[in-house]
Parts: sequence; C-alpha cells; structure tokens
Amino acid sequence: MSSRAPSQKLFGSDRSVIEAEIKNMEEVECPVCGIAPKPFAVDYQGFQLCRCPQCDLQFLSPRPTFEQLSEKVYNETYHAETDTSEHLSEASRYQFERQYKMLEKLLGRTGQILDVGCGNGTFLRYGQERGWEAYGCDISLSPYVRESKSFPLREGRLLEIDFGQTRFDAIRFNHVLEHTQNPLAELVRSRELLKPGGVIFISVPNIGGISTHLKNLQSRLHLKSRRWRHYAALHHLWFFTPKTLRQLIEHSGLRVLHWETPVFKKEGQSVLLETVQRGLFEKSHTSSILDFYCTFAN
Ligand SMILES: [Zn+2]
Repeated sequence: MSSRAPSQKLFGSDRSVIEAEIKNMEEVECPVCGIAPKPFAVDYQGFQLCRCPQCDLQFLSPRPTFEQLSEKVYNETYHAETDTSEHLSEASRYQFERQYKMLEKLLGRTGQILDVGCGNGTFLRYGQERGWEAYGCDISLSPYVRESKSFPLREGRLLEIDFGQTRFDAIRFNHVLEHTQNPLAELVRSRELLKPGGVIFISVPNIGGISTHLKNLQSRLHLKSRRWRHYAALHHLWFFTPKTLRQLIEHSGLRVLHWETPVFKKEGQSVLLETVQRGLFEKSHTSSILDFYCTFAN
C-alpha cells in the first residue's frame, strides 16, 4: 500500500515510497558504446547514478520503464505544473528570444519548426508571431494546449509519430532529451525529419557546470539531507556535460554548429548581477544550462 496520494508527485518522495511504487526497473547500456555503466553514487531516493567507463556519459541504471514513467510521473500531477497563463515571464521571453534569434541566424530565415515536448505551447505561439510555422508534439498533451488549437499537434513519442512527408527547418528539444529512454534514437529520428540545411536545437541541464560541481561535493560530504537531488533522477534519465552531449550528437550523424551555456535573467534580478553572472558563466561555459545547435554531419 502506497503512502502517496494520487495527486502527489512521486519525484522528491522518500526511498520507501519509490521502492513501493516502482518495481522491476530496467538495466541500461551506454547508447554510444553499447557497454554496461559503472555506478558512482546512489541518490536519496535510492536511484543509482552511473557513468560509461568508455565515454563518460552519465545515466540512471537501473531505471523505471517508459510505462512506469507514463503512469507514475507523466500523469495529471505533471500537467498540474503546466503554466497556462498567456503572460510570459521575463526569463521565458529572454530564453525564447535568444533561441529563435540563434535559429534564424544559423538558418538565415524562419521556417517550419517542430517543438518536441511542446508543453503548453508558449514557445511555439511566440515563434508564430515572428513568422515561424509551428508544429508541436508531446508524449502527453496538456488539456490546455489541446484546446488552444493554435498549431498542428501530435501526441506520442517522437520515435512513433508518423509525420508523413512533413519535414522541418528546425527541431527543438528543450529540456526533453534527458527525459527520453534513448536520446541517441531521438536524435537519429529528428535527423530523418530535418530538411536539408535544417537546424536541431538541444537544451539540457549542464552537469559540467559550477553549480553541479558544488552540489556534487556537498552530496559526497553528506552535507545535503537529500543527496544528489540536483540530478533530478526519476524523470531525468541522462546527465550531460559539453563533452558527452557533443559525443552523442556526433554519434547520431549530426555536427555542432554552435554551443553555449546561457544565463537567463531571473525575475527582479538587477542588471548588474545579470551582467556579472553572464560574464563569468557564459565565457567559461559553466552555467547550469547547455544549449547545442546542430545540423547534418555531411
Ligand atoms: Zn559510452
């Protein structure tokens, strides 16, 4: 019998709750090297964090299956967090503007964009105002985006959706890849869906950043009550550094056009602090977000 109410999120629960809810997890191999990983830590929920001994890619193994995640994590408790307001926060506006500007610079124009994991659709509606033709997909569409009917929508995993003859100038994975069962397969599929000269945008948490290094140290020294919580294991299955994300991208037949570790303006933050942080963490590539823009390798 679980001690968790149906509306309560599973992430952040204690180890006893996780063990009661998720049984028979699956072992995972490195998608790049095809070998078993080595564990380096166990988080407060009991999840084992692993690293590939060959390429250093970090991931969860064993991990919940897709079916378990769909039932226990990506359910109504996940959508409850979806922001349905039309008002964009300052941080979102800055992020959208920065991503669209870079896509437009690399493509030389706007075009058709597919947002994988489109959530409430605010990124796509923002793009429509800039002249982009928007398409969205998500493993589970929120009622809000379904009712908005602002652009064509598909529900399901990218690997299983039939887009017919439609191909895209840009495909966006914004904090999506770390949630998928096989990020290499996602990139290979997105390559098939890309028009010649198109750009794939990937954003993931940067575990090579300063903040992760500090929290790793606190976790190792038992200075945190919830050790390794910053890895967000359960819904995050993969953990990337600039090096390991680049390896994955190149292994999928893509090449990197541009990469950066952006610092997003926080609500109410002073311009001075923002400028200082940007100067420190963007120049040294050590902020907590990793953004890669890619295209076909040849
Ligand atoms: Zn590997």
